[in-house]
Amino acid sequence: LRKRMIRAEKMEAVSHLAASISHEIRNPLTAARGFMQLLEQHHLSPEKRRQYARIAIEELDRAEAIITDYLTFAKPAPETVEKLNVKTEIERVIDFIRPLANMNSVEVRATLAPFSIIGEREKFRQCLLNIMKNAIEAMPNGGVLQIYVSIEKRRVLIRISDTGVGMTKEQMERLGEPYFTTKEIKGTGLGMMVVYRIIESMNGTIHIQSEVHKGTEVSIYLPLSSSHLPQEVRKAKKIFAVL
Ligand code: ADP
Ligand code: MG
Repeated sequence: LRKRMIRAEKMEAVSHLAASISHEIRNPLTAARGFMQLLEQHHLSPEKRRQYARIAIEELDRAEAIITDYLTFAKPAPETVEKLNVKTEIERVIDFIRPLANMNSVEVRATLAPFSIIGEREKFRQCLLNIMKNAIEAMPNGGVLQIYVSIEKRRVLIRISDTGVGMTKEQMERLGEPYFTTKEIKGTGLGMMVVYRIIESMNGTIHIQSEVHKGTEVSIYLPLSSSHLPQEVRKAKKIFAVL
């Protein structure tokens, strides 16, 4: 049974990306600080000491994971909306993710074409990274991560598929919901929320198909950039100003 979902509208929940980032990172930092403070006590048993240290480290790992989901490609300078070559951008993200793929014995196969889209480079890369990272994490015992690019009705299609664990209907429905994760302490449940927000801001749509024990296929559709670039950039800038 193959389940299908189309969505871009669910993400009004977190309306301000920048505000949510500092909030998300501050929480685990505050928790880590609290446990470090407990560690300062003299009378602690060795077990308590180990336990507090372990929790502090987990909280710091969580802060790190949140930064990975939001800010991997972030630079100090403000981002600009520009013409992006999907082939080049996908290749950069594949380069970045290759060590993780190798660690999981995941083979990466890419069939790319140099179509142009309009967007912010860092956000687009972040979105691709979050999807590819999920794909690799869904294949702990190896598999194939496939990335395919084509054109459909003046829209650029980017299809990212894996041969991993797949999702149940219930998991599919909760995908993109803040904090929904099946990865326990290793997951943030923020990666797909970020993906939906970015694709929405680029006037794109996402379709997801998944089957348990077979794998998952994420299809992103984005408007193909026309030759009238300056006007399109201006239009896109207005949209991004809302973020
Ligand atoms: P996280 O990766 O931190 O758990 P995400 O928002 O990126 O958070 O993903 C939420 C959940 O969606 C994951 O925990 C997982 O259960 C499911 N998921 C996302 N992508 C895939 C995939 N390619 N294959 C299987 N499950 C997935
Ligand atoms: Mg993720």
